[in-house]
Order: sequence, then C-alpha cells, then structure tokens
Amino acid sequence: SLTAGIVGLPNVGKSTLFNAITRAGAEAANYPFATIDPNVGMVEVPDARLDSIAKIYNPKKIVPTTFEFTDIAGIVKGASRGEGLGNKFLANIREVDAIIHVVRAFDDENVMREAGRESNFVDPMDDIDTINLELILADLESVNKRYTRVEKVARTVKDKDAIAEFNVLKKIKPVLEDGKSARTIEFDEDEKKVVKGLFLLTTKPVLYVANVSEDEVGDADNIEYVKQIRDFAATEKAEVAVISARIEEEIAELDDDEKKEFLESIGLEESGVDLLTRAAYHLLGLATFFTAGEKEVRAWTFKQGMKAPQMAGVIHSDFERGFIRAVTMSYDDLMKYGSEKAVREAGRLREEGKDYVGKDGDMMEFRFNV
Ligand code: GDP
Repeated sequence: SLTAGIVGLPNVGKSTLFNAITRAGAEAANYPFATIDPNVGMVEVPDARLDSIAKIYNPKKIVPTTFEFTDIAGIVKGASRGEGLGNKFLANIREVDAIIHVVRAFDDENVMREAGRESNFVDPMDDIDTINLELILADLESVNKRYTRVEKVARTVKDKDAIAEFNVLKKIKPVLEDGKSARTIEFDEDEKKVVKGLFLLTTKPVLYVANVSEDEVGDADNIEYVKQIRDFAATEKAEVAVISARIEEEIAELDDDEKKEFLESIGLEESGVDLLTRAAYHLLGLATFFTAGEKEVRAWTFKQGMKAPQMAGVIHSDFERGFIRAVTMSYDDLMKYGSEKAVREAGRLREEGKDYVGKDGDMMEFRFNV
C-alpha cells in the first residue's frame, strides 16, 4: 500500500505528531494482517459515508479503511553529500510515495531551533529551504549522472527513448540548478512517463504541514508563518495543512465524545491527524469503495484509475484472479433510494465487467471463480 513519509528539521514537532498518529492508531483487531513496523503509524481514514451506509445495513461490524504514515529517520543536513545518516534520510524518502513536510510555525522560547543555529527565531522559509535543498542536490546528482550518458546515446544512436529522456533531463537540470524542486515543472503525459523512471525525490507529491501553537490553531489564517508557508507551497502547487502537534498529542488520549467536545471548544471541526490523513489520501490520488452486508460494512482504498478486477484484488488476490463481474451501485444512489433493492428497482444497479474504471463512493459486490 502507499505511504506518506513525515520529514522535517529537528525540533519542529515530528515526533510529537508521529506519537499522536500511533496513539490515535487503527483498532488492531480490525486489521489482523497489518504489518508491525515501529516507523509506521496506521490510522483509520475518517469517512462519514460509512455511518450512513451502516444505518441501512445494520451490520455487526463497521470497518474503516486505513492509511500508513512513515516516520523518516536520518539526518537532513549534509544528506546530499552522503554524510553518514544523511544517506539513510534520502534512502528512506526514496521509498515513500509522498512527503509530509512538517514546518515549525509556533513560537516557544523553551523549544530551541535546531542545534548550531545562531538565532532562535522561527523561520519557516529557511527551514523549508534547508530540507528542499538537500533533496534538490540529491536529484541534481542523479540527473547529472544520466545527462552525459543519455546525451551521447541520443546524439549518436538517435535512439527514440534516449532522445525523449534527454529532452526531459534538459528541462529538469536548469530548474534544479536554480534551487527549485522538479515538481514546479509542467510535464506533458509522455514526459511524465519518463520522469517516473528517473526516481527523483523532488517530483514526489508534497504536503506542507504548519505546526502552529496550541493557542492559535483555531485562528490559523492570521498567523504570519502560515501565510509564508502557503505562499511558498503555491509556487509548487502543493497543499498546506495546519495542525498543532501538541494538541494532537492531547487529543490522542481522549475517547470520541471527549475528542469532539474538546475540538469544538478550540474552534476545530476535526483533529489534525484526521485532517492530515484526508489530505495525504487526496495527495496520493486515492479513493474509497465500499462493501456492505449484514455482517460487515467496510471501506477499502483504491488508486484512482484502477479497474474493477484490481479493486477486487485490494480485498483478496483470489478475487482479482477469478474476477467475473462486479455488481455496483453508487453511494449517492443508495442514499437516494434507501436500499439496494430500491436501487435495483430504479434500474440503477449495474453489472460491471473487467474494463470498468472505479469511482470514489462505489458500492461493490464482486462475483468471481475460485
Ligand atoms: P522533532 O525533533 O521534530 O521530532 O520535534 P519534537 O516532536 O521532539 O518536538 C520538539 C519540541 O517542540 C518538544 O519539546 C515538543 O513538546 C515541542 N512542540 C512540538 N509541537 C509543539 C506545539 O504545537 N506547540 C509547542 N508550544 N511546542 C511544541
């Protein structure tokens, strides 16, 4: 499954946030086959539709789908020069599908900025630059390594793929040299395929997380640090989520009712962990389909663009192998007509075959050979 890696300079609140994520974590009994890795925090994806579906089916069990965050270890500074743990930092980022970049946006004189800094002023842009520069330098090294070789093949052999790759490299190199991430570049569909094969770090989708003071989280739009982060993120067409890691740590201890009450008291509609989970889900192009019966109503994650057999494979590989068809209705139709039977009578229950491309909110029942 896809995962988002949490990165950030020391002392920005990563561990506080990651602790909150693991404590808010998914109910283990529902996911017996989940892998246990101390660097991975698995959370349930909040989805109000599950409860609405459950009201119709009255199932014994309601199971949300999950999402995994990875805590990225290693040292940021000097990483691109291959210094010790820095290598590990880059290697760990290479393995994740998206980057959650935590940026300090709270003042607290008791919390030092990274050791070795001259001042203790909070400076989100400087923090963002420090990390992004290491990633940009690492990418520049990868690009330069291929550049000369691919240029030669493109010139001498006139190989079509080499020419295409060289054109992409020519587009990326000056942007990186200018200190910008490769995600700022517009690529067409063919170029995107080439870019994918380069395995760069600065093309990974990123979500900037402004970690603000617990006193200000309900009024984040007026925080100057947040404005700076938003302005920068816009240049990368990246999203920003505002949280207070310290509050998340506190909320993680509460039960659902207490949590709701507490959030309301500080002017929030949902927890930062929930907000982050939905944002990361969106960032990775993920969507949800449902299965529903008397025993269980359950949400499943699929990647947008997947076809029905692959969606069946999310549940079990046997379902994909033996796929025959999927009896499908939309969540909206279920709500509109009130039951599966009524949806069928309205002629809105569909039999979808192997070429059907899934939509968010599809309710599916797979028919397969064993
Ligand atoms: P990391 O090095 O990025 O993992 O940072 P930590 O999570 O260890 O946090 C560094 C320090 O900042 C700790 O003392 C935290 O309690 C504090 N901290 C984290 N988030 C907040 C916050 O939202 N508000 C305040 N005031 N302090 C925070």
